[in-house]
Amino acid sequence: MSESARLVSTVAVLGAGTMGHGIAQVCAGTGAIVRLYDVTQTAADAGIARIDSNLTKGIKRGKVTSAQRSAILDRLSATDSLEKAVDTVDLVIEAVPERLDLKRSLFERICPIVATDTLLASNTSSIPIGKLSEGMAHPERFLGMHFFNPVFIQPLVEVVRADASADHVIDRAVALSRAMGKEPIVVRDSPGFASSRLGLVLGLEAIRMLEEGVASAEDIDKAMQLGYRHPMGPLKLTDLVGLDVRLAIAETLAAEVDPVRFNPPQLLRDLVAQGAHGKKSGRGFYNYEDSSS
Ligand code: NAD
Repeated sequence: MSESARLVSTVAVLGAGTMGHGIAQVCAGTGAIVRLYDVTQTAADAGIARIDSNLTKGIKRGKVTSAQRSAILDRLSATDSLEKAVDTVDLVIEAVPERLDLKRSLFERICPIVATDTLLASNTSSIPIGKLSEGMAHPERFLGMHFFNPVFIQPLVEVVRADASADHVIDRAVALSRAMGKEPIVVRDSPGFASSRLGLVLGLEAIRMLEEGVASAEDIDKAMQLGYRHPMGPLKLTDLVGLDVRLAIAETLAAEVDPVRFNPPQLLRDLVAQGAHGKKSGRGFYNYEDSSS
């Protein structure tokens, strides 16, 4: 705990959604003070409420003690002020929607405020870190820290090394990931990194198979679970990630890597346009409105 607290004492997490709240939770678990920022106080507060719910469930499962829950919650605060969130922090982790313009506009606002040695990390699934840091002061402090959903359970962190990332920045991120109890891998700054690029291929193909009537969503998922021992089928996983998030990743990879392989299927576009964003919206390839699945 004290070792990790020295790695980073204060962290700002930008975006309190699916990923941001979980990242804030695991950062606070290392002993760091964490400020969770979102565009409205309500959204930021909702992130803290989700952390409380995760921890309470963890107590019921015997994974978390009530003392740990209180200590983590005591280290967390929620704000709708970007300036307050990043004031004198050692590390910023950005987890806002997968749009280059949005992410860049946040980093443009942050760069002049934070210290020149503050680590600036993005949880982007697919956007090259070099594109996020292009033209920004001190690009050596930028890197990717790509977490997986649900963050407090999934063990992997992809630490993305951009051409300009300093070695000590990558080393600190690796050590911090370990302090969170995660297994870091260091990957080159290539669109979609090691995980999203590969995972998306399976997800998009499963959606095309559903479009073509090859099998039902349940049976496509079952094929991968029972035939290939995947813990979750690709359509259920797309529901968990968010159809909107996966569409944005596909669009980035279609533009950056290959327009044919990563071309988003029409069914994915249609479901996103209908507001069927997956589990978080109550409907995706499966219906969650009346169940807790
Ligand atoms: P989300 O839609 O659940 O959450 C995004 C949050 O950002 C929302 O709370 C929203 O209010 C907030 N937000 C929007 N604009 C903002 C702004 N200008 N400033 C501050 N907050 C703002 O999205 P998510 O699934 O958490 O994805 C966030 C990032 O994490 C994306 O880059 C995504 O690609 C990446 N990611 C997602 C997953 C996943 O499984 N969902 C996994 C790994 C990485």
